[in-house]
Amino acid sequence: MNVIRTFEDYHKQYKKSVEHPENFWSEIASSFYWRKKWDKVLEWDFHKPEVKWFIGGKLNITENCLDRHLIKRANQTAIIWEPNNPNDDAKHITYQQLYDEVCKTANMLKANGVKKGDRVCIYLPMIPELAYAILACARIGAVHSVVFAGFSAKSMTDRITDAGCKIVITSDGAYRGDKTINLKGIVDQALEHCPDVTRVIVKEHVHTSAPMKAERDVWWHDEIKKVDSNCVAEEMDSEDMLFILYTSGSTGKPKGMVHTCGGYMVNINYTFQTAFQYHDGQIYWCTADIGWVTGHSYILYGPLSAGATTVMFEGVPSWPDWGRFWQAIERHKVNIFYTAPTAIRSLQQAPISFVEKYDLSSLKVLGSVGEPINEEAWHWYNKNIGKGKCPIVDTWWQTETGGFMISPIAHVTPLKPAHATLPLPGVQPAVMNESGLEIEGNNIEGRLTIKYPWPSMARTIYGDHQRFKETYFSSFPGKYFTGDGCKRDEDGYYRITGRVDDIIIVSGHNLGTAEIESAIDEHSSVCETAVVGFPHDIKGQGIYAFVICYEKPAEEEKLRAEIKETVSKIIGPIAKPDKIQFVSGLPKTRSGKIMRRILRKVAEGDTNNLGDVTTLLDPGVVEEIKAGAL
Ligand code: ATP
Ligand code: MG
Repeated sequence: MNVIRTFEDYHKQYKKSVEHPENFWSEIASSFYWRKKWDKVLEWDFHKPEVKWFIGGKLNITENCLDRHLIKRANQTAIIWEPNNPNDDAKHITYQQLYDEVCKTANMLKANGVKKGDRVCIYLPMIPELAYAILACARIGAVHSVVFAGFSAKSMTDRITDAGCKIVITSDGAYRGDKTINLKGIVDQALEHCPDVTRVIVKEHVHTSAPMKAERDVWWHDEIKKVDSNCVAEEMDSEDMLFILYTSGSTGKPKGMVHTCGGYMVNINYTFQTAFQYHDGQIYWCTADIGWVTGHSYILYGPLSAGATTVMFEGVPSWPDWGRFWQAIERHKVNIFYTAPTAIRSLQQAPISFVEKYDLSSLKVLGSVGEPINEEAWHWYNKNIGKGKCPIVDTWWQTETGGFMISPIAHVTPLKPAHATLPLPGVQPAVMNESGLEIEGNNIEGRLTIKYPWPSMARTIYGDHQRFKETYFSSFPGKYFTGDGCKRDEDGYYRITGRVDDIIIVSGHNLGTAEIESAIDEHSSVCETAVVGFPHDIKGQGIYAFVICYEKPAEEEKLRAEIKETVSKIIGPIAKPDKIQFVSGLPKTRSGKIMRRILRKVAEGDTNNLGDVTTLLDPGVVEEIKAGAL
């Protein structure tokens, strides 16, 4: 009924979703298993702000991800687990096996004192137990708070304290390429400052004899032996909390976004099936870590609720060599492949023979998420991975939105490189000017807001509704402010131009970071770029570019002049960078996003207080950049 197969279908569905949003969403929601149907579809007030979907509905998301598939799909693979080491066997976990494991894990949590509403911190590598633990929480109505297993002890302490977790699920260690990380040691350090955590369940994975603290720490393999696989799912209200997840921290202190059961399930499933045009039986692989929202929504809940086969990858794209992704696509005959621009840009630097070695003919659809994808990376991905046949679904969304918002629909929406294209049905963007007025029409640019609720939106920041209101609902009263800037072109297509906080104003012209970066990246020597503004006597702000080249530039001045020329041709002389610093790396969050706020400090010559850097991947690059500042 809501299936979209043509561009015309899209327009019809979109229109319907705007004119009759409640009918539109209740039709979609009807395809799920509810213990009790909702009484009312939606109540909302963006001033408070308060949003409720499928009010009075009762459900358990795991019954929709697991139980209901057992009739048809018990023996179908739910999760393909690709281990860190390609010489180890992949695991194929069927829906029946996943169901059994989740139920056992749920019983194990109950036996360890976890109750409905409790927050559970999960700090695990990308191993099947991570999926079991998340779904087990959902099964018993506990709230999972997954902390990416690359975060430091300090980041973990902050998140455990903020969410009030009393239990942590972890492993003795994690593999990352040829390295082994001592996760349990990090947990122990973090817990020195978390007196309320009274239980730690430890999965043995890397077999380094992790020290166990008496009374507090127990082994997963001991505990799981004590329970069976019968676990009736807890009945949840649509608006009960499903999980807390912290944002990446690109722009400041991470925020604990709260997602609820009913609306989240409905929209994640819908967007997964629609944007990727998922067909029954396809193999789907999202390379994100489950520690990010992308993994929550589009490795687990979306694909599993759709009965798909989803790949979970433990390793890294660069080990044992740069062919790892392509090898795994060949091995598992992946049909839909979803990754991030940061990964594409680093894979682009490796010799193309790593790609050519493998058979990628199973691929039908490609996806991108996390940052605006620059045109060069888009073309590389399209040509070398998609062989010009696979649409690139450039999904714009956020931890806060829970699911895709602006995105092409594969094989349906005509594409434009570097454009997230059109809003999905149910999403009503409004572009605002600086004085808070909506800009109508096309060929415009401004700040991206959303003026109508969608089911998977975050309901609050855990424990801080005031901050939720201030961050998202105060800049443009009555609208959700995304923090991103955008352009809407003559076809109504959206292009995300970067964070509004990062906009550079040169001689009165607003310039988005993404566009300038994409233009610089067009130079054949340049691999990746980050630009920021700095105070400039004449222009107000100047443009400072941090540039990574494929090879160390032989003649820096000559290359600088060429880069300026490239930008001048693509955007115009106004966007020419004033300063170009060649660097070997950029400060990124652990989810791979550039932290421009740090670069801004460097460009301004103010490096004493860099703000919250706990989510930074490699603090070492900051030192190099500081030392080379112009
Ligand atoms: P914080 O909010 O703590 O600063 P963050 O915004 O990096 O962290 P996420 O929720 O992981 O945390 O990222 C969402 C942001 O990522 C979006 O607001 C947008 O800036 C960027 N983004 C994600 N996907 C795309 C895309 N396809 N195109 C352009 N930008 C994207
Ligand atoms: Mg954000």
